Amino acid sequence: MADGAVQPVERQLPTEEARDLLALVRELVQREIAPHAADEEAAGRFPRELFALLSESGLLGLPYDSAFGGGDQPYEVYLQVLEELAAARLTVGLGVSVHSLSCHALAGYGTKEQRAEHLPRMLGGKLLGAYCLSEPSSGSDAASLRTKAVRDGDDWVLTGTKAWITHGGVADFYTVLARTGGEGAKGVTAFLVPGDAEGLSAAAPEKKMGMSGSPTAQLHFDGVRVPDARRLGDEGQGFAIALSALDSGRLGIAACAIGVAQAALDEALTYATERRQFGRPIADFQGLRFMLADMATQIEAGRALYLAAARLRDAGKPFSKQAAMAKLLCTDAAMKVTTDAVQVLGGYGYTADFPVERYMREAKVLQIVEGTNQIQRMVIARHLAGPDSR
Ligand SMILES: Cc1cc2nc3c(=O)[nH]c(=O)nc-3n(C[C@H](O)[C@H](O)[C@H](O)COP(=O)(O)OP(=O)(O)OC[C@H]3O[C@@H](n4cnc5c(N)ncnc54)[C@H](O)[C@@H]3O)c2cc1C
Repeated sequence: MADGAVQPVERQLPTEEARDLLALVRELVQREIAPHAADEEAAGRFPRELFALLSESGLLGLPYDSAFGGGDQPYEVYLQVLEELAAARLTVGLGVSVHSLSCHALAGYGTKEQRAEHLPRMLGGKLLGAYCLSEPSSGSDAASLRTKAVRDGDDWVLTGTKAWITHGGVADFYTVLARTGGEGAKGVTAFLVPGDAEGLSAAAPEKKMGMSGSPTAQLHFDGVRVPDARRLGDEGQGFAIALSALDSGRLGIAACAIGVAQAALDEALTYATERRQFGRPIADFQGLRFMLADMATQIEAGRALYLAAARLRDAGKPFSKQAAMAKLLCTDAAMKVTTDAVQVLGGYGYTADFPVERYMREAKVLQIVEGTNQIQRMVIARHLAGPDSR
């Protein structure tokens, strides 16, 4: 049979600078992230110092304007960096994606003064962000959120509970969506809340199926006072801001999913060429060869779709439908590919001695976060057929 050595991913990158960037990321991943991923995930350890290192290396603000400390990289390049990070450790790839999501409201809707004051530290000052939309009783129906912000002189006073917050309790700043007006999407406003604000506290992190190193926690706002200067965008504009952040964020999730799937395929390929049964490498058997071929095809299709959506975004064209399609296809592919990788490894795949069981547990969450895959289908259908007439 042919040599089954794992080949590096063939990437289409627009510039020499982008190729150098990816090479730097691969080197950093091999040196700092991959060697510790399995042990730290098993121990549930959050690698705060890695995020400081990524920030120092300019990797926490890649798609943002260099005038504010960003990296000026096209989205198609930023997403491929995320893919490499997530392939080594999803806690890190997803963490960078969430950080980027949490900077979106300020970068896109903040005033010039707000951006000048906060963005440089958020993008390259070793600060870590979190994005607070979900609540215990509002997930998919995010516009029904109840956390309140009430005006008091020059301040706003926030009261309520946010749920499922990635980096909850460890973030330096929180982009928070709160209700300042009546019911529904039009009554929501965005705020930038410092992590050490008085009255802000985090519950113990959730005990999750995977990504144990990434803290996910409820956040309690008990009369948290923030000045009006920390309101992002207009009053009532918050939900539109949240959705626009999610369009971009979903592409980050898609890229992370392809990273996890690629890592699972690489592991399965290596194993299948080494493991022998019936006197031959198991990679000789057509039953497995077809499975590996399907896995590789789903990964390439997913990568092509998220890159096509990213290129629309980079060209300033609408990309919301394509972002939902990419999130749906890439995360479903990751679930299928990681499940098949466990199958390729047989009984060994079901043990913690190999990383494929971790990849399978990690893939599951990607079908849920930033809009479940049912919600992605609703978004796509709305683009195709208009709003639901009920
Ligand atoms: C590890 C993790 C990290 C997260 N990080 C963050 C974060 O940083 N910030 C944040 O704000 N949120 C975060 N979330 C929350 C996440 O976005 C929500 O879990 C998700 O949006 C789904 O909401 P829910 O869990 O309340 O499920 P529900 O909305 O209660 O949905 C339950 C089920 O019903 C389905 N469903 C709901 N409505 C419909 C419908 N109309 N049609 C068809 N099916 C439907 C859903 O698809 C799902 O299968 C995180 C979640 C997890 C698990």
